[in-house]
Amino acid sequence: MNRMVPVLIALGSNIDPERNLAQAVSMLSRHPGIQLDAVSRIYESAPVGTRTPQPAYLNAAVRVQTHLDPRALKEALRGIEAALGRVRSEDKYAPRPIDLDIAFYRQHELDPDGDPIPDPDILLHPHIAVPMADVAPDWEFPENDGHRRTLRQIADGLRFTEEELHMLTDRQLTVLSTDGHYAGDLDAQAGEVYDPAFESLVETMLERLGEDPSREGLRRTPLRVAKAMDFLTSGYSTSLEEVVNEAIFENCCQEMVIVKDIEFYSMCEHHMLPFFGKAHVAYIPDGRIIGLSKVARVVDMYARRLQVQERMTNQIADSMMQVLTPLGVGVVLEASHFCMMMRGVGKQNSSTVTSAMRGSFQEDPRTRAEFLQLVRG
Ligand code: ZN
Repeated sequence: MNRMVPVLIALGSNIDPERNLAQAVSMLSRHPGIQLDAVSRIYESAPVGTRTPQPAYLNAAVRVQTHLDPRALKEALRGIEAALGRVRSEDKYAPRPIDLDIAFYRQHELDPDGDPIPDPDILLHPHIAVPMADVAPDWEFPENDGHRRTLRQIADGLRFTEEELHMLTDRQLTVLSTDGHYAGDLDAQAGEVYDPAFESLVETMLERLGEDPSREGLRRTPLRVAKAMDFLTSGYSTSLEEVVNEAIFENCCQEMVIVKDIEFYSMCEHHMLPFFGKAHVAYIPDGRIIGLSKVARVVDMYARRLQVQERMTNQIADSMMQVLTPLGVGVVLEASHFCMMMRGVGKQNSSTVTSAMRGSFQEDPRTRAEFLQLVRG
């Protein structure tokens, strides 16, 4: 067998990207000729080089070792792309479920199709350079003038806007097995410590439950729980100002604006078990409107805390009143509570509906009726 060669692979997707990135990493990790060493964080980037509107991309990079030569490795990558439904077309900017490219293959200068390696796009595009710098900060890129810069230096030297590229701090690359089942996550480096005090509490809890926290499947569970809880309660450290952040626009109309079916996931404060469902938020503007995606962010901000559904409903209504001073606001939440479903309390399929009305939604029965009709419709 040949010596193992370190390689960097760039990943990108803008069709069901979270799932496809995770699947691709999982398939790479199980390929017999590839050993996975590190996975970058996930970044969202605006599509480049296209005039037709396209969904945003998620990008990541992995560092692997392989004894496959560049041609065999490229074939392996094409195989994974095909398994995930990628059809290569003439249009190099077409949306794709997954794109896997050899960005660095030590000591090679051309890939089997004649494309240069390292990929010179690393020098130009933050969506390639920044994830690479996560997994191989010290690797050097040989430039024409004989200059050598590390990937970290290259990434740090690129200028880009938040819209062109930003890290998804709230998402980790969860690795799925090919049949879609959870198969552990690779985001944490071995030996990583995240929040020792919290992790030791989780360890104690596992012991009290009768478990052995040192067994293989549980060894990194305290770390994972610490990270997951951090995310699930990130609403505590988010402010309304941050969320709304300049997404308020002047508008003359006084027509009802409704954002329906906003998915949310929260945890009840009584049992710390999930409740989840849909939020419907409506308001009648009085000169000011808010970007629709921001309404969903407001819902998330209150969902990512320990909650009771009634309070969450009121908090969403009050914050809409606060940031928009509209004529009125209506909020309806429909949710299923695990603490009822799992413990067999109440009907398994029942959902709890709560509502909060402010201003004209409270005072004018016709407005309220119109809103409720739209929610049901
Ligand atoms: Zn509960």
